[in-house]
Amino acid sequence: MKIAQILERTPENQTLTVKGWVRTFRANRFIALNDGSCLANLQCVVDFEKTDEQLLKKITTGAALHLEGKLIESKGAGQKVELAVTTIVVLGEADPEAYPIQPKKHSLEFLREKAHLRVRTSTFSAVMRLRSALAFAVHQFFQQKGFYYVNTPIITGSDAEGAGEMFRVTTLDPKNPKKTEDGSIDYSKDFFGKETNLTVSGQLEAETYALGLGDVYTFGPTFRAENSNTTRHLAEFWMIEPEMAFYDLNDNMDLAEAFIKSVLGYVLENCREDLEFLDERFQKEEQAKPQQQRSGMGLIEKIRFVVDNKFIRISYTEAIDILKNCTPNKKKKFEYLVNEWGVDLQSEHERYLVEKHFNCPVILYDYPAKIKAFYMRLNDDEKTVRAMDILFPGIGEIVGGSQREERLEVLESRIEAMGIDKKELWWYLDLRKFGSAPHSGFGLGFERLVQFATGMGNIRDVIPFPRTPQNAAF
Ligand code: ATP
Ligand code: MN
Repeated sequence: MKIAQILERTPENQTLTVKGWVRTFRANRFIALNDGSCLANLQCVVDFEKTDEQLLKKITTGAALHLEGKLIESKGAGQKVELAVTTIVVLGEADPEAYPIQPKKHSLEFLREKAHLRVRTSTFSAVMRLRSALAFAVHQFFQQKGFYYVNTPIITGSDAEGAGEMFRVTTLDPKNPKKTEDGSIDYSKDFFGKETNLTVSGQLEAETYALGLGDVYTFGPTFRAENSNTTRHLAEFWMIEPEMAFYDLNDNMDLAEAFIKSVLGYVLENCREDLEFLDERFQKEEQAKPQQQRSGMGLIEKIRFVVDNKFIRISYTEAIDILKNCTPNKKKKFEYLVNEWGVDLQSEHERYLVEKHFNCPVILYDYPAKIKAFYMRLNDDEKTVRAMDILFPGIGEIVGGSQREERLEVLESRIEAMGIDKKELWWYLDLRKFGSAPHSGFGLGFERLVQFATGMGNIRDVIPFPRTPQNAAF
């Protein structure tokens, strides 16, 4: 039986079998056993006088045990039930000299180096259970709304979507690749007969499915070879990309807001124990920060706030006005000063808007066409596009989306203006030739959502095995 179920039961001397890993073993008597089914351990009480000494020596932190015993009311404080152990089988020992996860506070940096064992700590098991619950909530939200889950390719043959920043996929011999007459690498001899990369987004392919299935979403791995060593960027992350036929930008913003509120509401209801633990951890970390950097709210409080309050919606133009006139800009405290319409927003600007000015999630929309991708729908002012980004306190951008350009001529002229090869996008342009319709979608980085829901400061701590520049261990 799983410990999560055992802890719910009324103790009636019933005989039970549990299997799990030792968290601690105190006084040759009390085993705190954890099996991953919940945050709490099961207290298992050993009668050491009746137990072989050699066997007792093998009960150390990290060892895997099979225990049988009777479930009784606990006399000690801290738990309602405990297991009076009758049988102990050590399934796997853990040499205490060598086992790195000892019952003391380890730094997150240390645990990153032990990523194969870190899930045996309370923090990482709580984070990973929450991650799993959030993934379930994502599917549940879309499925209940009648969206179809589509799997777009991981190996992509179109290089138009993300300027640079891609990982090449090749089977050519790096020492001796086939060359063309002019000496460049001959990709026609490569596995796919052309250059291929790992996908940076499934959007373009998802659009083809939306214009047939109606409402679809992807939820899959995404790769970016950007050399950004930040607490919010991974080289391999998971992205959720809904794409909806007949949605305009307002519909798109409404869906994104409802979606985020729904999945966060799900964990508030279903992950109470883990959230309370992470909340305590989060508040301790906050206390250690200088006053100005504290968010002033607990984790659960922060999540509640997002679920209960309307996101602020303002245009890029309004945001620029706020930023131009704000104190850090006037006092030249920003690294990048905001002095004219058209500049791209840096994360310091996003953070100011979200954390200082509004103190609330913000949806920015109608960005300058020049700083956004070719597929975003051009507004009548011909200067801005129907883009929207959702900015979150402590996280920055969590969603990027837009209404897509459905007019063939406008799309073609934007592709040309951006110097992209039209031929590569023939199939994407076909969508605008055959039954084109207004449609919209967005991308949400799953790990950024998990970061928000768990209060973890570094994105490396919310994915089992993070991939970042110079690091693909495990
Ligand atoms: P940023 O400006 O933060 O790098 P972006 O503008 O490159 O984000 P998009 O291309 O719009 O992001 O991707 C959609 C979403 O995917 C983002 O809102 C974010 O949540 C997530 N995302 C983007 N890049 C990464 C990354 N390297 N690691 C983790 N999540 C990411
Ligand atoms: Mn980016």
